[in-house]
Amino acid sequence: MWFEWALLPQGWAAHVRISSAQGRIVAVETGVPPAATDERHANALPGLPNLHSHAFQRGLAGRTEQRGSQADSFWSWRGLMYRFVERLDPDSFEALTAFAFAEMLEAGYTRVGEFHYLHRDERGQSYTDPAELCARVAAAASDSGIALTLLPVFYAHAGFGGLAPSERQRRFITDPEGFAVVLDGARQALHTLAGAVLGVAPHSLRAVTAAELRAVLELVPDGPVHVHIAEQMQEVTECVAWCGRRPIEWLLAEAQVGERWCLVHATHATAAELAGIARSRAVVGLCPSTEANLGDGIFPAAEFSALAGRYGVGSDSNVRLDAAEELRLLEYSQRLAVRCRNVLAAPGASTGRSLFDAALRGGTQALRGAGVPAGLQVGAPCDLLTLRSLDGVAGRGDELLDGWIFNGGRAAVDSVWCAGVKVVSGGRHYARERLQARYAKALRQLSG
Ligand SMILES: [Zn+2]
Repeated sequence: MWFEWALLPQGWAAHVRISSAQGRIVAVETGVPPAATDERHANALPGLPNLHSHAFQRGLAGRTEQRGSQADSFWSWRGLMYRFVERLDPDSFEALTAFAFAEMLEAGYTRVGEFHYLHRDERGQSYTDPAELCARVAAAASDSGIALTLLPVFYAHAGFGGLAPSERQRRFITDPEGFAVVLDGARQALHTLAGAVLGVAPHSLRAVTAAELRAVLELVPDGPVHVHIAEQMQEVTECVAWCGRRPIEWLLAEAQVGERWCLVHATHATAAELAGIARSRAVVGLCPSTEANLGDGIFPAAEFSALAGRYGVGSDSNVRLDAAEELRLLEYSQRLAVRCRNVLAAPGASTGRSLFDAALRGGTQALRGAGVPAGLQVGAPCDLLTLRSLDGVAGRGDELLDGWIFNGGRAAVDSVWCAGVKVVSGGRHYARERLQARYAKALRQLSG
């Protein structure tokens, strides 16, 4: 492949030729003419990691926007989501997941961190294969061509202090022994999926006791660890009532939080907690469109950035799938909160470029580990995208990124390659018709 301009780790370069083999970049040449057989495009950007997703929740997008009799909140939305979960079977679960993954690719994401918490059947029984639904996530990733970091979720309680789970949580619940079996099955399911990574996700401090957290971390000694934390003020208040400390404060003191950790949301963080996360080198997983949709609050990203804190973005509930929009909303939430412009850019730098670089670095660390090659360089997965010229998305260099993020959005994504395979052309995923038809059928069944 040959590009007039490409964003490389060292910056923009002209006339770039990228070669790949077995899914990885094997050569990056700059200042060279195209070979006769090269596919040619105006620009190339690294694909963005989507560090936090519950793909099946895509089926709820746009369907929870009617106000109930009382003030709506995250908790009333969660009730609707639990009702939706009751009706999912493995086929409908896979259909929703595969189409969501295809849409992620169309939106500019090339790897997804699937925070996967649905393990049991409608009655709360284990499937014949306890990792049945992990295998379905792997099949959806294979079908869509997206790179997968699978994060099986350990979920055991309804609240702090080991509160017994509710009936509605019966499809999520495991104990450490049962969870070890699910992880073994997940490992097998990923065995044939090129580039797949297995991590672990203690759901939240609400759902996991301290002893369980230790047991679960031992099961995946060196993979990514993701946890929901401090998304809602109610969670913070309950945590303080339980142990006298706030959730992030507790986690930083009680777990060895480091580079393999991703703290998802961390919305309600004090200055001391922000400094602690930054020191730990963990990544904060921000999900601006979902956090806005659920009324979570605004993460103090400007303050965290000033501490050299690491962050990436995720689509979480998948109410919208648009990598550029997550970055735009992240910046706009800060502008609204601190009443300044270009908040997350370094002095004199492009905001689009600053956001993109941070999300690429942070997302890569959260999904593939610290210190692995990221972006368009030899040894990295050949995951990239090209933007088309639209009004407001033109030019080159950082101007192109600003145009994409602040104006063009998803409509400007033209082609996407994952592991060197072209999975999106002209903005459309190669299997869009088939996957969309299966998704629509599953949604009809679920609402019927
Ligand atoms: Zn989540």
